[in-house]
Order: sequence, then structure tokens, then C-alpha cells
Amino acid sequence: MLLSRKSLTPRRCLYLASLFCCLVLLAAAHWWWLAHLPIRQLWMPSGIAELLVFLIILVTLVFTQMVDLPKPIYLLLTLGFSLWVMSAGVDVMDEITRQPLWLATWGEDMVRVVGMAITALGFFRLLEHFVRVQGQLEQLAHFDPLTQLGNRRFFQMQAERMQDEGLSLLMLDLDHFKAVNDNLGHSAGDAVLRDLGALLGRSSAPGYPVRLGGEEFAVLLPAMAEDELLHYAEALRLAVAKRLAPQLELTVSIGAATLLPGEGLDGLLSRTDKALYMAKHGGRNQVALAQREEPPLWRQGR
Ligand code: GH3
Ligand code: MG
Ligand code: MG
Repeated sequence: MLLSRKSLTPRRCLYLASLFCCLVLLAAAHWWWLAHLPIRQLWMPSGIAELLVFLIILVTLVFTQMVDLPKPIYLLLTLGFSLWVMSAGVDVMDEITRQPLWLATWGEDMVRVVGMAITALGFFRLLEHFVRVQGQLEQLAHFDPLTQLGNRRFFQMQAERMQDEGLSLLMLDLDHFKAVNDNLGHSAGDAVLRDLGALLGRSSAPGYPVRLGGEEFAVLLPAMAEDELLHYAEALRLAVAKRLAPQLELTVSIGAATLLPGEGLDGLLSRTDKALYMAKHGGRNQVALAQREEPPLWRQGR
């Protein structure tokens, strides 16, 4: 919920009450010291328009007090709208009293210009804030905080994007990773995952490395022929064996597959997963190529 009464703290209520008193005093001073015009002038179209402007700014100022904003932005908007509403009050009063020129110029025009400028600055800062927050949310939604690689959601999005032009997939799973946690502790395990993320980030061009979850990673690649894909996966396996925490002698098992004509992403994932399972059961630290299962008849349009 954008507006919340919880944000309307006693201090903010006090501020609004003080501003309201100032507006009442301003109107009373006009009424007391200046010559009156016929009151019906206020109900002419121009008087009604000025009254509406005053009310719109006043309501916007009240709403600003009911939003939880970063303090500098809140202060800019509150100051800007406050000056603006005061000038709008003076503007309304010139419909029912005869104002001297200096009041119309300084009390109305100048205060309004300053108020609008400060409001515009606050609004600009507000937009900057939203763009920054949106970037952070996107980062949180699509990237894994431990390895900084894309997460499963990013994987799904990217795979759907690449699907039409064909795509190959590697699934990697660290071998006996649980032993790292058990023997060296969870934070040592985290450090290994972080290093693997960095290594995949460096070595996976032209692919997109992602962390699917736990110690399972994937690399999305443009479509490759089987021997090319095997060669690529083998290079990645060797890079991990050689460069990932060499003192721990960690290895990785890899399943590899290329999207078949008429096959969906689910089919590709399932075949790659089976290939990874084969690599594990074949003794780990190896690459297995997925079986070329025929897609179901209804997908082939037969
Ligand atoms: P296998 O060779 O069969 O893949 O054996 P494994 O030990 O690698 O696989 P297993 O599935 O038995 O264990 C995976 C371990 O990964 C267990 C879990 O605690 C650990 N793990 C998952 N996510 C994280 C993480 O974010 N940080 C750390 N430190 N450990 C994690
Ligand atoms: Mg594992
Ligand atoms: Mg696993």
C-alpha cells in the first residue's frame, strides 16, 4: 500500500497543523488589513480554478506525509509543496481582497517559483530513487547473491530468449561437495561455490553461466554440434579440476545436450539432467552427452 497512516507520525501531524494555522493566519491577515472585493468573485471560473489548485497542492502535501520516503526526498517535497501551497493561498485571497503589488509579486509569484523548483528537485530525486530500487530488485530477482551468477529465474528467461535460435546446455554438479562442508565448515563450502561462480564467469564465453541451486550450475550456450559441445564441456571440466581450490582436489561432473528440433525447454532440461546422472554414475569427474530421445509424436506434428 503506497499511502499508510503509520507514516503520519505525531511530528508530521504537528507540522501539518502548524501549516494549517499559518494558512488560516494568512487568510485572516488579508481579511483584516486589505480592502474587500465582492465575495462572488471567488465563485467565478478563475476563482474556482485557483481554489482547486490550492486544494490539489494541499492534498498532495498531506499524501506526501503518508508515504515512507528517504528523508532528503521527504524534506524536499514537504518544503516545496509547503511554499507552493502558501503561494496558492495568497493567490486565492487575491480573488476576495485587493492585494498590493509587492504581495502579488513576492508573496505569490516568487514563493511559488521557489516552491515549484524545490518540488521538482524532490520529484527528480524520487525518480532516481525508484530507478535505483528497481535495479536492486532486478538484481535480487535474477542473480544469486553468493556467486553473483544468474539464478534459476534468469536461466529460464535467458533460455526462453535463446530457444528459437537453438541452444546447448551444460549442467555441472560438484563431486562430493558435501565432504567440503563436513570437513572444513559451511563457510569454506561457500568460498568454493563463490570461486566456482567466478571461474565459470571467466571461462564460459560465449555462454551464460548460472547457479541453478546448491552446488548445481548450468551454462547456456548457442547451439553446438555434439563434438564441439563435448570439447567445450571437457575444457570446462579440466579448468575446474585444475583451478578450483587445487589443494582440495575438487572435480565436477557435467551433463551436456543440444536442443532437438521440436523439443521444448523441459525436454532439454530433463535430457541434460539424465546425462549428468550418467556422468555421476559413470564414476564422476567426467562429461556425459545426453541421449537423443525422439520427441513425442504430438510434438513432431505427425
Ligand atoms: P555428489 O558427488 O553425488 O554430487 O555428492 P555431493 O556431496 O556433491 O552432493 P549432495 O547432494 O550429497 O550434497 C550437496 C551439498 O551441498 C549438501 C549441501 O549442504 C551443500 N550445499 C548446498 N547449497 C550450499 C550452499 O549454498 N553453501 C554451502 N556451503 N553448501 C551448500
Ligand atoms: Mg554434488
Ligand atoms: Mg547436487
